Amino acid sequence: MKNNLNTLVTGGRGLVGSSLSEDMHKVNSDFDLRDKSITDKLISSLSPTSVVHCAAKVGGLGGNMNMKGEFFYDNIMINTNVIESCRKYGVEKLVCFLSTCVFPDDVEYPLTEKKIHLGEPHNSNYPYAYAKRMADIQIRAYREQYGLNYVSVIPTNIYGPNDNFNLKNGHVIPSLIHKCYLAKKNDTDFKVWGSGKPLREFIYSEDVAKLTEWVLENYNEKEPIILSTSEEISIKEVVNLIVKYMDFKGSVVWQDDKPDGQFRKPSDNSKLLSYLPDFKFTSIEKGLEKTIDWFINNYESSRK
Ligand code: GDP
Repeated sequence: MKNNLNTLVTGGRGLVGSSLSEDMHKVNSDFDLRDKSITDKLISSLSPTSVVHCAAKVGGLGGNMNMKGEFFYDNIMINTNVIESCRKYGVEKLVCFLSTCVFPDDVEYPLTEKKIHLGEPHNSNYPYAYAKRMADIQIRAYREQYGLNYVSVIPTNIYGPNDNFNLKNGHVIPSLIHKCYLAKKNDTDFKVWGSGKPLREFIYSEDVAKLTEWVLENYNEKEPIILSTSEEISIKEVVNLIVKYMDFKGSVVWQDDKPDGQFRKPSDNSKLLSYLPDFKFTSIEKGLEKTIDWFINNYESSRK
């Protein structure tokens, strides 16, 4: 990696940021990127050659449904400010994180990089989705007007150490690991939302970090690139693996009054594989084991 010392990471202590190379300059929520003057000051004072923009207001299905206004405002402000400050202060390469939530709900599967704007996102997370879609628009516009080499990535559901293990607002894997941990400790039921039938594509945070470092050096197209294993797994199978690795002996209760969210959102990773045909993804089994070990060993200090 050439330019590491000149790379700034926003969201540096988050799930992806914390897995990126320690040579990069990582900043976290001490900087309120919703504020334009703070964002300007940060980027002008550090004057990075490149920026990996991971910072976002994120949450799982619960967070997205309960905080629609905040999810829209915070994300649209953060992205608009970061991309504009990068332009203003001469950042040569920007890698911006989108999410598979950006895709339309009613669209022909699999999801490809060309389908982002073809229809309304799912009702459970449209504020987050539209805010992220606008980052794609801003990048496209800046490439066209200013000739900047700014790109974006679309990872599927990321999980791993340093995630937010909040029970209500976290993503499914960290929330379920935390719930199972408490159910085991307190000898109670392990309560899971919905039917367990929805399918998701999970990607381990360290894989995303490796791919991001590759994108920073090598990916220069105007269209985003999907970072995905393109392997679907049901929530039920994920629950079974968590139960196994946490050695939980109690009952699993499926809460059918809680939402299932989108049924599936299978993605097409063929663009990624055309560049990196030999990339070895961490299996869900290995990734879950590592995440669970990390959570148990870092329970006190983990975000929850
Ligand atoms: P999504 O992929 O954007 O929908 O986000 P999530 O990571 O929150 O995954 C949501 C899926 O996991 C839905 O099918 C939920 O019904 C299911 N799920 C089961 N239990 C939980 C839980 O405790 N928290 C969350 N966030 N999702 C859960």
